Amino acid sequence: MRDTLSLIPRGRFPSIRRRSASTVQANLGYRCNQTCQHCHVNAGPHREEVMARDTLTLLMQFVRASGARVLDLTGGAPELNPGFRELVAEARAAGLEVIDRCNLTVLEEPGQENLAEFLAAHQVHVVASLPCYLEDNVDRQRGKGVFETSLRGLARLNSLGYGTALTLDLVFNPQGPSLPPPQAGLERDYRQMLGDRYGIVFSRLLTLANMPIQRFGSMLASQGRFGEYMALLREAHREENLDAVMCRDLVSVDWQGYLFDCDFNQMLGLPLRRAGQSRSHLRDVVGQSFAELPIIVRDHCYGCTAGQGSSCGGALAEGEEPGAQGEKPRAQGDLHAAESVGV
Ligand code: SF4
Ligand code: SF4
Repeated sequence: MRDTLSLIPRGRFPSIRRRSASTVQANLGYRCNQTCQHCHVNAGPHREEVMARDTLTLLMQFVRASGARVLDLTGGAPELNPGFRELVAEARAAGLEVIDRCNLTVLEEPGQENLAEFLAAHQVHVVASLPCYLEDNVDRQRGKGVFETSLRGLARLNSLGYGTALTLDLVFNPQGPSLPPPQAGLERDYRQMLGDRYGIVFSRLLTLANMPIQRFGSMLASQGRFGEYMALLREAHREENLDAVMCRDLVSVDWQGYLFDCDFNQMLGLPLRRAGQSRSHLRDVVGQSFAELPIIVRDHCYGCTAGQGSSCGGALAEGEEPGAQGEKPRAQGDLHAAESVGV
């Protein structure tokens, strides 16, 4: 895979600063039951990077002292971290909203038979990867049978109240170098397809733009389309999205406990800068404020402000509906890569 950081210009994205952190997003490690080819962290069953117990303890100390209201767990498959359930229980007992970025197939992994019940019992907000509502597309990208396993997972979550009493969000982003279609319209399509065909319900569909980094950026570079996609993002920049980009209110923590402005910067190796330090660890920042710190930006940040905007919580603004630009799923070869946020 090519180094995409060196391809990304430094200087044109506007300067922005942090507010206080309302969300802490933690990567619990790169272990995963799947080995999707497009995975931006190259996760898989044989990866050994897992957030250790002492780091999990520090993480909770940090979250409690930060005043954050949301703990957002990602990976790999975060549920495969041996400390996942303890962490979730502790965070929920402390009154935090907990988000689990779940790939759905993990619900059928050995040892995870009661994971869905655990999530429901702790009222965890599930953000689930369903790359498309078309079986062929999902199976081609993620492996034969993954669509069916994912639907079984969704049905099980539905039976526990997810999608009605409990929050179950699905994530879409385009396969190709184009902006996502308007979120509201695609959500209607997802509801109709999944509801009519399979009886599946969900809370919201979150549409994300592809970031020109890691595997996606590398693929564009190898096709000679990196500059073209960067230009598309820059030209679609909307100034009003700057106020809502997720890094203003979120701190990202890697599996070793180091801090970043967001998951994308984490994957690019661009640490959060504080007090002149080249990088900061959880152990050094418990109880410290991040408000007003400058955010490390490069031109990949246009991926967050282009068009309707994009964040781990989906679009930042309403997209245009009729005739809007954007890539909707099609049969044969149009997929998404929800895992760009570690789903
Ligand atoms: S893309 Fe998601 S499900 Fe696939 S290997 Fe990576 S973390 Fe696991
Ligand atoms: S890529 Fe990260 S740092 Fe840049 S605007 Fe988006 S969230 Fe902020």
